Amino acid sequence: MSTETVVIIGSGPAAWTAAIYAARANLNPLVFEGAGSRTMIPGGQLMFTTDVENYPGFPEGVSGIDMMLDFKKQALRFDTRVFTEDIVEVDFSSRPFLLRSSGDREVRAETVILATGANARWLGVPGEERLAQSGGGVSACAVCDGALPAFRNQVLAVVGGGDSAMEEALYLTKFASEVLLIHRRDELRASQIMQERAFASDRMRFLWNTTVEEVLGEDVITGLRLRDTVTGEASEIEVGGMFVAIGHIPNTEFLRGQVDLKENGYVDMPTPWRTDTNVPGVFAAGDVMDDYYRQAVSAAGTGCMAALDAERFLAHNGAAG
Ligand code: NAP
Repeated sequence: MSTETVVIIGSGPAAWTAAIYAARANLNPLVFEGAGSRTMIPGGQLMFTTDVENYPGFPEGVSGIDMMLDFKKQALRFDTRVFTEDIVEVDFSSRPFLLRSSGDREVRAETVILATGANARWLGVPGEERLAQSGGGVSACAVCDGALPAFRNQVLAVVGGGDSAMEEALYLTKFASEVLLIHRRDELRASQIMQERAFASDRMRFLWNTTVEEVLGEDVITGLRLRDTVTGEASEIEVGGMFVAIGHIPNTEFLRGQVDLKENGYVDMPTPWRTDTNVPGVFAAGDVMDDYYRQAVSAAGTGCMAALDAERFLAHNGAAG
């Protein structure tokens, strides 16, 4: 079995930036970019983002997909090697670390950079999972699914009060007859600029203090059963689609017991301003360790830091064996 110098797990801005820095430092990085699933594809969350307007260097904005393809291209230019597989199991008990992939590949690694990001969170109400899996009109990604013919000229619901919900709702106004923004409080969490855009849309209507209790419909969504969180009153509305935008869950399941995680599942970072985890030689970057900023540019920044931290670790500790 080969022993790699640096293995990077993930394929968002943190992972590719780490790869670019590691490759240019002659560390010959190997990236496991993920196998892809119904809710996540290689490239990460930016693959579901239409316009990135806040990444410096793109005055006109850039599509998230183009951005991630270019990040990857830049990493490949410096001979980064890539497997389109997940890492499903790790053994960090001794160096070199052991990693096993969804393709049943086993590799040893002197250092590992965790950059697996996060996935959409679901409401967990009856009907939601069934209709999401069957493609029956429930989705966690407006940008991926919103333009489908089934959603055209329909009343569409978006659940959530953060920037993602505003972005998804505004995107859907291009196709829907009306977008209902359903939020459990009477105040949005979204940034001021996104709130202003949402309030300015004449195709959006806000249902405040409202939770979704059930998604109605057999094969296809027909409506939602709602609850007013103030009065406790139940009601039903007809909708042709529901988009859930209530935050994310870090992709750290495969790390349980191997590296310290915080209570909310994000990788614990014991040293301020470093990308070290509690395991010497294992570093973390991007959304998998960041439950606060969660921006493409901050993820890329920590990806750079993780590669530099890995390089310095190797310089001080050398190869394990
Ligand atoms: P978020 O800011 O954590 O917001 C999640 C929203 O979902 C909150 O309004 C929350 O309600 C609600 N929520 C959570 N669990 C719920 C549940 N079980 N039932 C009903 N509602 C629930 O997540 P996000 O919107 O995905 O944004 C994450 C980060 O990415 C933020 O830093 C954001 O600024 C950034 N982002 C930026 C952009 C942009 O700038 N264009 C776009 C997307 C995301 P409460 O408010 O009541 O907690």
